[in-house]
Amino acid sequence: MSDVSIEAPAQSAKPTIFFDGVSSRRRQVMLTFSDALEIAEDGKALARWAYADIRRADGPAGVLRLACTTGSPLARLEIRDAALAADVTARCLHLDDHQTTRRGIAKIVGWSVAAAVSIVCVVLFGVPLAADRLAPLVPKPVERRIGDAAEVQMKTIFGRSVCEDPAGKAAFIKLVNRLRDAAGLDDDSMTAGVLPTSVPNAFALPGGKVFVLKGLLDKAESPDELAGILAHELGHLKHYDNMRGLIYNGGTSFLIGLLFGDVTGSSAVIFASRSVVEASYSREAETAADTFAIEIMHKLGRSPKPAAELMFRITGKEGGSTLTTILASHPLTEDRLARMTREDRPASGPPLLTDKEWQSLKLVCGSGKV
Ligand SMILES: [Zn+2]
Repeated sequence: MSDVSIEAPAQSAKPTIFFDGVSSRRRQVMLTFSDALEIAEDGKALARWAYADIRRADGPAGVLRLACTTGSPLARLEIRDAALAADVTARCLHLDDHQTTRRGIAKIVGWSVAAAVSIVCVVLFGVPLAADRLAPLVPKPVERRIGDAAEVQMKTIFGRSVCEDPAGKAAFIKLVNRLRDAAGLDDDSMTAGVLPTSVPNAFALPGGKVFVLKGLLDKAESPDELAGILAHELGHLKHYDNMRGLIYNGGTSFLIGLLFGDVTGSSAVIFASRSVVEASYSREAETAADTFAIEIMHKLGRSPKPAAELMFRITGKEGGSTLTTILASHPLTEDRLARMTREDRPASGPPLLTDKEWQSLKLVCGSGKV
């Protein structure tokens, strides 16, 4: 290949769009063909993709959508100009390598027979039952990848990076780890943090990542209040509720994506991460997560009642809650409140955090408003 860079032709007619995989911004870019595909916005280099690593991704008709196996996993390039698309296609010799190749087949075989049986359930019994059977069988690496994507998605929606005050961060990780241990979650992921947004909510993502939004932390008056809510979220994780929801909502296309190992190569992962962040669960799943939270709090010698009080306080102040608050996905019914109140016990275990740790956690994002 010549080492002369060629500015790709005819780019102005139909714009080429680049998504960096971190923000949701559409960037209009110029492509340059050198010994790799160079992607630049206003003369500033954004990415450099080796031709051999470029793969075709699912896209609408008339758009060549590309991903790069060695680039940011969620980054996408969209080419609308047919001549330019043909030019790129000619240079990328492995464009369709990830389709049903030998590696793909090995992955299918690698999947458990039980999973294959569950696919049949989709046909025979409809998706809900299959989702129940399949959810626990989603391979850990896939789950982790979805968790990673969900984390990116969540940070895009709720704030770029976690609050960094070291003492506050340490306190949060201590609290989360006590809960994770009591919950018997084997994910050894250390990802846990507070995101600087006024929305009151908390998330436990696939792969064991736990996030609380500052809006919820601000309203919490004790570690037990926050812990009860996090324990509830860990309950959803333990019961594979988010995976189940994914399979249920994504239906067969998501299942097939999973089977072919193509979760990063298509829009499936974007879809997946979005539905994890915006998840709302069935009443049964909510009751089961409450049961789990009650068990965890009792196991730690703490009461589950404060969590209900915190939720009640949020309802009181917000009135009609907005879409992303914890109460939108977890309506605090009379039943729930009564149940957590009934399960109130005097503390028999040590406080989950010392007063000092709790104060540090409250100030993890600084003392200002977000
Ligand atoms: Zn819930």
